[in-house]
Amino acid sequence: MIEHSVLGRPGGDNALWVRVNTGQKIHRLLFDCGSGCVGPLGSAELQEVDHLFFSHFHMDHVAGFDGFFRVNFNREGKPVHVWGPAGTIDLMHHRFRGFWWNLHEEQTGSWVVHEIQEDRVLAARMEVSEAFAVRHPAEDGEIEPILSLPDYRVSARLLDHRGPSVAYRVDEEPRLNVHPERLAASGLRPGPWIQKLKELGVTGPVEVHGQSLDLALLRADLLERSPGNSIAYLTDFRLDEDWMERLTPWLTGCEVVICEAQYARSDAPLAVQHHHSTTAEVAELARRAGVGRLELFHLSRRYPEFIWKDMLREARAIFPRTAFPPAWNL
Ligand SMILES: [Zn+2]
Ligand SMILES: [Zn+2]
Repeated sequence: MIEHSVLGRPGGDNALWVRVNTGQKIHRLLFDCGSGCVGPLGSAELQEVDHLFFSHFHMDHVAGFDGFFRVNFNREGKPVHVWGPAGTIDLMHHRFRGFWWNLHEEQTGSWVVHEIQEDRVLAARMEVSEAFAVRHPAEDGEIEPILSLPDYRVSARLLDHRGPSVAYRVDEEPRLNVHPERLAASGLRPGPWIQKLKELGVTGPVEVHGQSLDLALLRADLLERSPGNSIAYLTDFRLDEDWMERLTPWLTGCEVVICEAQYARSDAPLAVQHHHSTTAEVAELARRAGVGRLELFHLSRRYPEFIWKDMLREARAIFPRTAFPPAWNL
């Protein structure tokens, strides 16, 4: 399953925390790093982050990065992956180099920075043991999806924020479950063999309480496939009719969409001027794509609290399954 929470407060910096929980393993993904957003997660969770995805590098999305870097710069065991639009390798390199490094030679932290361009993904690896001085070439990646792992995949779109702002969509792979009634009807007792059923790469016979049974037959009898969860993250972008059409098919079927609602409907001219979107535009996108639900975040700090509820109402008039993040208690 995919669990998520929007970090930060309305009218302040925000970020998104996602955990892809397979039951056996938890993958942790962080989207943006606004000021004060990541601290409350605690060092133990932050040190397990697999991928940090930046939409873009305006200060309100990166001001909390030092806190993340501090607990992860010399992380052992697995590299930290950072993603963002064109320019990300340069920007991250400068940030890594913005500290005095004089005790680093024996340390082992490794960072891989991925830069999402229109037609390809460039990557570079940098090491704490070298004071992050060298950009080692890393394998360039695919554009669709940008990341494909056994448990989940991530795809991206480059939105228009007077320059690119990256939107991300995470899709969990379909889940394989043992149908409880069919298992009961088969007369077989659960055991370690159940795990083998779900490992589709494993074929042949399997030992089930002393008898040897064929995996393919057991799978056909007992397994059911259910779709995985999905979540999309879109922030800091201009959503005009052209973009509405381009994004609708990409978001179709998405369960949860976390989307900026920088401006109220009546402030549409400001949205155009600042390359942001309004509540009404975002709700219209959710309606057209028929998403499961829409969570609005990243509200402009210009609005007093009593306006927030009006903004939610105007979105709900277009797409009723709209809410603010539950943690906001609004
Ligand atoms: Zn921005
Ligand atoms: Zn922003």
